[in-house]
Amino acid sequence: MSVFVRMGGRLEHILNLEIALDCPHCNVHSHLSAVSVPRYEYLARFKPERTGIVFRCDSCNEAVFLRFQVVHYAADHAELDNLYEEVERAGERFEINGNGGKVESLFNEALTCYAIGCLDAFASMCRRTAQAVFDDLGESGKLNVFDEFNDAARLAGIDDETLSLMRKVVFDSDSEGRSNIPDLDAENAGVLLEMMKDLLYQVYIRRGRLRRALQERTHRLEDPGSQSA
Ligand SMILES: [Zn+2]
Repeated sequence: MSVFVRMGGRLEHILNLEIALDCPHCNVHSHLSAVSVPRYEYLARFKPERTGIVFRCDSCNEAVFLRFQVVHYAADHAELDNLYEEVERAGERFEINGNGGKVESLFNEALTCYAIGCLDAFASMCRRTAQAVFDDLGESGKLNVFDEFNDAARLAGIDDETLSLMRKVVFDSDSEGRSNIPDLDAENAGVLLEMMKDLLYQVYIRRGRLRRALQERTHRLEDPGSQSA
């Protein structure tokens, strides 16, 4: 259903939009309510191809700006597409304890690229992050990561076409030059983001926790006097 900006500033169908997203200010997945709508009179005068609406985040009350394509200008209203473009994204940081410093700094640059919408740079930094992971793990480790990546995709119900795109970014080598990194649209970039976080979680956080837990357990078995942990 499209959104209509009518003469006199009324906005129709916006209540049916059901906009919910990760708020760039509070990071909470939250509903948004429209608070500032463009005036039809100005839209009709300048006829921009895209325009924006300011919403408020229902969780933190901050302003969130979303951009919309204008589909059609009529005599008394402008029709906006119901698909919107996020202008700001939540700035995330990823922390890896232990010896993943290089991986952490590369991936945090990837997150910055994503947050400001530089998706090509984001894909390149994801590949560099993955290369640093494979340097850490060696060739057999890379094969394990490949299997885990496919398993995670299957669990998440990612379709084959998207998965093959993700695999190209993450696992293909640079031998043919970095121009072989596929172009990602916003949706694919979002999928890649979650897949990369899962990959790093599997390799660095989950294994690290398990290893520490097992070490503590062995330590307790060898030295039953240290039950305090
Ligand atoms: Zn918020």
